[in-house]
Amino acid sequence: MSREVLRIENISKNYGKIETLSSLSLVVERGEMVALIGPSGSGKSTLLNLIGHLIAADSGNIYVEGKSIDEFNNRALAKKIGMVRQNLDLVPQLSVINNVLAGKLSDWSFIKSLVSLVFPMEKELALSALRKVGIEDKYTQQTSKLSGGEQQRVALARLLVQNPDIVLADEPVSSLDPARAEDVLSLMSSIAREENKTLVASIHSVEYARKFFTRVVGLRNGRIEFDMPTEKLTERELQILYSLEVG
Ligand code: ADP
Ligand code: MG
Repeated sequence: MSREVLRIENISKNYGKIETLSSLSLVVERGEMVALIGPSGSGKSTLLNLIGHLIAADSGNIYVEGKSIDEFNNRALAKKIGMVRQNLDLVPQLSVINNVLAGKLSDWSFIKSLVSLVFPMEKELALSALRKVGIEDKYTQQTSKLSGGEQQRVALARLLVQNPDIVLADEPVSSLDPARAEDVLSLMSSIAREENKTLVASIHSVEYARKFFTRVVGLRNGRIEFDMPTEKLTERELQILYSLEVG
């Protein structure tokens, strides 16, 4: 089987007159950990939202394991691609375990996922995910009462329950203090490595990109400025990437 899991081909996306992504192409292989870096407004979130099929491109194609993303129904796509967004998409009033089980939403009816009565097998599944992220004891708590770092872990546990092959994360740790951010990233990358998942994440910190990712893609003005193994990244590329626009 081919190692290619994701192929992005000449994707363009405009918002009004703003060209957000311009004919961007990228191929990702199974097990890669790709960090998207670049200045604010460079198109990182837009790219992730396109891959996650939350928005549609103006032109170009995205293939998941060789099949066009448009050919997947929601349930089939949820088995392939999972996403953690900056706002985490947790339901604050619900208990931790119910948020975690929302990872099975694609298998369930929406109503069933909101029923607070949790069936034993599903409970075990959620608890084992919460155990992996180190907050099993919090499972009955109301999610809004948890700290930012703990909520990040709930979102990770939900992703474990969804169990997609490709994990997309949009600035997954930008709201955390450095110690917790490293904690969450190290957890995320070790889970990805152990389970042979593919990880594509936008990351605001070059230091974290270096520490936790194998490949780094620099975006600027909706174009790929560079794409290289993380260990090859030098100050030169970073200077160009983050330099202010002149002329
Ligand atoms: P990044 O995540 O790298 O900061 P984004 O992908 O969020 O960048 O945004 C890239 C560009 O597209 C920005 O100029 C932003 O203003 C614009 N943009 C993104 N989403 C929208 C939207 N829903 N409506 C209008 N413009 C948008
Ligand atoms: Mg963004």
